[in-house]
Amino acid sequence: MDHPDIERTMLTGYPKPEYLDYERHARQCDVCKAGMNEGYLLETSGDCYCSSDCTAKDLPEMDELLQDGTLFWTDWYYEI
Ligand SMILES: [Zn+2]
Repeated sequence: MDHPDIERTMLTGYPKPEYLDYERHARQCDVCKAGMNEGYLLETSGDCYCSSDCTAKDLPEMDELLQDGTLFWTDWYYEI
């Protein structure tokens, strides 16, 4: 690791879009913009969220969506 900006990015968890390539993140959280390779996916819109906290901010009805299978936890390692 010899790129100070990437180190800072990893510490804060809020990578700039141009750094996502370096870190090889397949997706970006729609709420906090953190790069991620696994998280919640809302099937109907394709929106992704890194954590249940972020999901709940965007989707107050998160529990119902999880129950009916519209929202689920997945990963995108196969894309990187
Ligand atoms: Zn997030």
